[in-house]
Amino acid sequence: MCNRGPRWITQQLFYFVLLFFRAITRVGNFTKRFVPPDVDTGEPVIRILYPILDTADGAITINEPDSKVVGIIASTFFWRQFLENILPNAERGLVVVFENTCNQSFTYEVNGHNARYVGPGDLHDHKPDFDNRGHALTFSDIGSFAEALSTSEETYGGLPINDGFCAYSISVYPSETMWNLFVHKEPWLYSAIAVAIFGFTTFFLLGYDKLVSIRQKKVMKTAIQSTTIVSSLFPSTIRDRLLNGDEGSQTTKNTGRSSMFEPTKVRLRTYLNDGEHDPTNVDGTSNARANKPIADLFPATTVLFADIAGFTAWSSTREPTQVFTLLEAVYGAFDKIAARRGVFKVETIGDSYVAVTGLPDPRKDHALVMAKFARDCRQRFQEMCASLESTLGPETSELGLRIGMHSGPVTAGVLRGQKSRFQLFGDTVNTASRMESTGRVNRIQTSQATAELLQSANKSHWLRAREEMVEAKGKGLMITYWVEPKGAAEMSVGGTAEITKSTNEDVDTDTSMRLSNRTERLVAWNTDILEQLLKKIVLRRRLLKHRSTAIKWRKTNTTNNMVLDEVREVIHLPEYNGKYNDADFDPSSVILSSMVRRQLREYVTAIAILYPENPFHNFQHASHVGMSVAKLLSRIVAPDIDVEGHEELHDHTYGITSSPLTQFACVFSALIHDVDHPGVPNAQLVKEGTDMARMYKGKSVAEQNSINLAWDLLMQEKFTALRHTICKTQDEAVRFRQLVVNAVCATDIIDKNLKNARNKRWEKAFALNENEWNSRISVINLHEQINRKATIVIEHLIQASDVAHTMQHWHIYIKWNERLYAEMYKAYTQGRSDKDPTESWYKGEIGFLDFYVIPLAEKLAECGVFGVSSDEYLNYAIQNRSEWEKKGREVVAGYVKKYKEDAMKEDSGNNKPFAEASHHLSFVDLDITQKV
Ligand SMILES: [Zn+2]
Repeated sequence: MCNRGPRWITQQLFYFVLLFFRAITRVGNFTKRFVPPDVDTGEPVIRILYPILDTADGAITINEPDSKVVGIIASTFFWRQFLENILPNAERGLVVVFENTCNQSFTYEVNGHNARYVGPGDLHDHKPDFDNRGHALTFSDIGSFAEALSTSEETYGGLPINDGFCAYSISVYPSETMWNLFVHKEPWLYSAIAVAIFGFTTFFLLGYDKLVSIRQKKVMKTAIQSTTIVSSLFPSTIRDRLLNGDEGSQTTKNTGRSSMFEPTKVRLRTYLNDGEHDPTNVDGTSNARANKPIADLFPATTVLFADIAGFTAWSSTREPTQVFTLLEAVYGAFDKIAARRGVFKVETIGDSYVAVTGLPDPRKDHALVMAKFARDCRQRFQEMCASLESTLGPETSELGLRIGMHSGPVTAGVLRGQKSRFQLFGDTVNTASRMESTGRVNRIQTSQATAELLQSANKSHWLRAREEMVEAKGKGLMITYWVEPKGAAEMSVGGTAEITKSTNEDVDTDTSMRLSNRTERLVAWNTDILEQLLKKIVLRRRLLKHRSTAIKWRKTNTTNNMVLDEVREVIHLPEYNGKYNDADFDPSSVILSSMVRRQLREYVTAIAILYPENPFHNFQHASHVGMSVAKLLSRIVAPDIDVEGHEELHDHTYGITSSPLTQFACVFSALIHDVDHPGVPNAQLVKEGTDMARMYKGKSVAEQNSINLAWDLLMQEKFTALRHTICKTQDEAVRFRQLVVNAVCATDIIDKNLKNARNKRWEKAFALNENEWNSRISVINLHEQINRKATIVIEHLIQASDVAHTMQHWHIYIKWNERLYAEMYKAYTQGRSDKDPTESWYKGEIGFLDFYVIPLAEKLAECGVFGVSSDEYLNYAIQNRSEWEKKGREVVAGYVKKYKEDAMKEDSGNNKPFAEASHHLSFVDLDITQKV
């Protein structure tokens, strides 16, 4: 109720004042409403009696003693008339009390325009609240009016006023009626409503505010995202121009001659823009200015090109996803270094990374910053490739980075079009690119210009002039420098790179250390692949609920070592089992016990140790073959043709798809196929009459030896858990052994009997045409025929993988070709071969490609299970054949220089060319085609 207080008082005061003044002003009207004097009205009235005096001279005076009353003017009117028509009609219950000094009082209640006589006496409600709120004015104060009037030099012309009057006072009070009208009895309700409205408004505003802020955040996020994308593609100044789209307006303001007060960049830009002939200006297109290209000339920059040496070759042996894994990892790392060093990444083109310093903001130390960037990238790259080798496979650590730098002015801008990109133009860019392409792996080559900048930055000790001049397009011969920024870790030089090097100056010394690290990574990689396949075996077994049976493992027979006798024409793979649908299950959900995993790793490590460090037949070769087997298998399992359902896929791949044990056996065979390889062909072993040759009756000597060694190792007590995870039943154990024997023996491609038998089997399996097939289907057991195909496909799969380097990128081919030459030449120098391999190497290779590799690649395509991989292998084989025809002699001359002449020069005591080669070789027999 209290909250009504101020208004309540104001209201009453207002009415009181109104009443008073209206009463005064309407005195003049009173006479019109007189009531006859003798009428009893029942309520208070005012009677006015005015005497009419007559004097002797007839004048009417007031104060003459001789005057006499001749008449009286009488007038009566109601008190209530003071109160009528004063209040607005809606107002109710104002109580008015008149009192006079003659102890008379009476009370009225005013309701709107009407006043009602309540009765004699002060009848207002005597509640304390109402008493307190009463207001009074005394009419006896009329004297002060008189005074006031007189002082204002007006004359009061009425009767003299004396104390004999009954002076009236008027008081107004509120009443219950008025109270109810103004003050609600349930303020809490109103309060609640008010609070509710307030609350709702607040909530609404807060909610609105929240929504606005969410929306703003969203907008900001989108803005930041798009800014980030744009920032990542363009330097900040260009980004701002692109985002603001204010290039036009900015330039428009600068129209006309460039001002001396503009920054150089802007002036140059304006100059460049004005210098152009813009055809749109001719026909007066108003928007021509806004379409000006965003381009600037930056007078002082350093441009860097970094290229992954050996990348194309490396990627030819891998699945596309692996290629992208490497590029993403490497570029991501470079981007981070660039951000930290304040280097701007321009673009990546395939395996090339292009960066620039000195733009968008000019900096004096652009060459220095770039040199440090180059150093950081090179170091990071080598670290990454080493660690990625265990996931991306062999040869990853051999990748190197070739870096070139040049300093000078560049034009930089946004080349607009469907895919706008920031680009650099000019001679500086071409020269920088040339510095990279003529450089060496893991080296940083710079031009004279960059070298001078580094010298002036007191970094002369980082520079070493290159001995030979470098030819740059349009510039002729150039003096260049190798930059070796201090503070970088020492770099090891990759193997691929060494081959193309004309001198040995860059070869790092710590080869043994690197090899052991690499072997470790290759062990990890092989273990990982086998582990994935082992999980598939476990998963399939679990789904088919196969019971395990006691296994009597085949032990190596000491009296009869002839593994060759075990080679089967047809190995029986499991028939299709509709229950198993491997697409529905994820093998990665299978967890192998830590014991099995440890044993697998130990087994692979032991196999790695059993490989001698031959130039060619080493653990790296085994891993390379394994990688090819895995790649071809992945094509079988996930074919790129349309196959409906698993049953059809099973038939299409002759059951290989639905037999994880078969897949495991293939990769396992690749891993062990050249274990303990002697580094000379079988024929040489036979010729030498070694124990090994006698043991295997001169047949497939190395292959049988490899199988027996690896198998004996697996039979050891410490690999029991591993063995029993690979095979759970006698059937499986027999099949696994057969697969390994057939696959490894198939890598002996020299033995004529084996070769002929294999060709016949291929004929039997595939060469039947449709009609022959249909006519003979009744006599040939269908499953037998499918298994025959599977067996021969597996043998060809491993054969192709064993020479996969001939069906991969030219660089890979040449790398392994050189290693094979090195192995044979070493055998020759050690007296284990009658003839120098050099003499027939060129021709021998043509024959090998024509009569073995290309027909093998054609067979892969023919059997139809390898999809695009078989085309890929065949295409590379044909390409390498034609490359070899062109460059082969030159390549051989290179071998001669590297292995023959250098070896002679350095005397026989120092076999430097074989630094990474074998210690087993002494002989080469050139009459025997290369055995790989
Ligand atoms: Zn091999």
